[in-house]
Amino acid sequence: MDVVGSRWSARLVGVLLTITTTLSQATDLGFLLHKHPGRVQAFEQSFGTAHVFYPDADESHCTAALLLDVDPVKLVRTRGRGTPDFSLGQYVNDRPYAASSLLASAMANVFRTAMRGRCDQRPELAETPIPLEVVLPALPCRGGPRQAERFFAPLGWDVSAVPVPLDPEFGDWGDSRYVTLTLTGTLRLADALNQLYVLLPVLDDAKHYWMAPDEVDKLIRAGEGWLATHPDRGTITRRYLANRRGLVRTALGRLADAEDATDEALDPVQVEEEPPAAEDGGEQSPPEEQVSLAERRLQAVVQALRDEDARRVIDLGCGSGKLLSRLAQDDFFNEISGTDVSHRALSHAWRRLRWDQRPRSANDRVKDVFQGALTYTDERFRDYEAAVLMEVIEHIDPPRLSAVERVVFEHAKPRVVVVTTPNSEHNVRYEGLAPGAMRHPDHRFEWTRAEFRAWADRVAGAHGYRVRHVPVGDDDPEVGAPTQMGVFTR
Ligand code: SAH
Repeated sequence: MDVVGSRWSARLVGVLLTITTTLSQATDLGFLLHKHPGRVQAFEQSFGTAHVFYPDADESHCTAALLLDVDPVKLVRTRGRGTPDFSLGQYVNDRPYAASSLLASAMANVFRTAMRGRCDQRPELAETPIPLEVVLPALPCRGGPRQAERFFAPLGWDVSAVPVPLDPEFGDWGDSRYVTLTLTGTLRLADALNQLYVLLPVLDDAKHYWMAPDEVDKLIRAGEGWLATHPDRGTITRRYLANRRGLVRTALGRLADAEDATDEALDPVQVEEEPPAAEDGGEQSPPEEQVSLAERRLQAVVQALRDEDARRVIDLGCGSGKLLSRLAQDDFFNEISGTDVSHRALSHAWRRLRWDQRPRSANDRVKDVFQGALTYTDERFRDYEAAVLMEVIEHIDPPRLSAVERVVFEHAKPRVVVVTTPNSEHNVRYEGLAPGAMRHPDHRFEWTRAEFRAWADRVAGAHGYRVRHVPVGDDDPEVGAPTQMGVFTR
């Protein structure tokens, strides 16, 4: 692989990225990337051409290369208008300087399906971590090798970042701002691609690429499953969004909300301090992130349960177990359980609760954390004082919502039901969220306050409950709080 990377990079300025696997049946990489190992393929981009080819493809070792051929004329034509912060000179005169954002954009275009983790021919392989080596022969890297290590190592990569000398013939000229980056690790291919998509421009930090309005969405989508728990998520988010405060705040809030966040996301998102960079006029200081919305929601739900004196609680749609873990640490509660339809979410919850290491002592508050679907009546949902549906109903397809209502309010029928859901009116306050867009790709709907009230009143009336409404988060005088909570009692 090294051979491949350096041999090609020496001759062609354009070889930017190679991905190698030593998976048995290594040529399955072709299925995962949706690009045939036997062909050289070219994909027209707005700025030139992206080529995909396999310098090496046999059963034990397979390398795919993505090569960008940047056409300065095309670049000028497509990027010249409406892109005020776009510095053409850098693109035209110093191609590799711009490589990272162009490379990310080509990846999104050429490997779109692979980045979504879809592979109809090898579905299980797309879900499985596989041995990978990624090589970028000349990666612009602000902060040098240490920064590359900081960003990639927490994701499970072995990182080798070797500074590229300004001129190999004149060693005492020192190093350029490029590194040769080699990442080795066992990861899902889709995760690897998404991490590169986000982190290459972030390492470059050139800030001259155009901030499209949907940039937050792109970041959240590509960051799924790794960014919310990355120790440098604040820095990564700020750099990715070119320090646009409103966008950064929105993105960090949504990251904290990401439901498949792993254990570490237990803590509210903190924005790391990064010293201002002198060379580009100084970065703005990071936005002061107060307590995240996710944290305020947890606190609001716990408070509602306390107010209703409900000590035996089941968390329906518990996700990664943030609430369960909070309740488990609180003496007020006697018996808590959680259920979710997603095995992936449950494995996070089990890990968070250290379910396998936990001594099954009699006074253990956590009774059960099990797989279950809210659309089917289940005896295990019964006999609790309270049920919580925190940010769950908006994930249910509307035609199935009435089944969930019956399962919860008619069959399980606890004394207290706490439901939280986004207030869609508040979405206009999220910079970077397109008008009418929802906060999360898996949301099936988001309700206004009136819509939630109408639903809650009808359900309460039909099943003998009363309901009170509680805003969660800053209650905006015009559009209300970001989260709405209904506390049902009977
Ligand atoms: N309550 C958690 C997770 C919210 S995300 C929190 O606030 O952090 C929504 C969760 O609902 C997901 O984990 C999803 O798997 C789960 N879910 C969606 N439909 C479900 C269903 N029909 N049955 C059980 N869980 C469901």
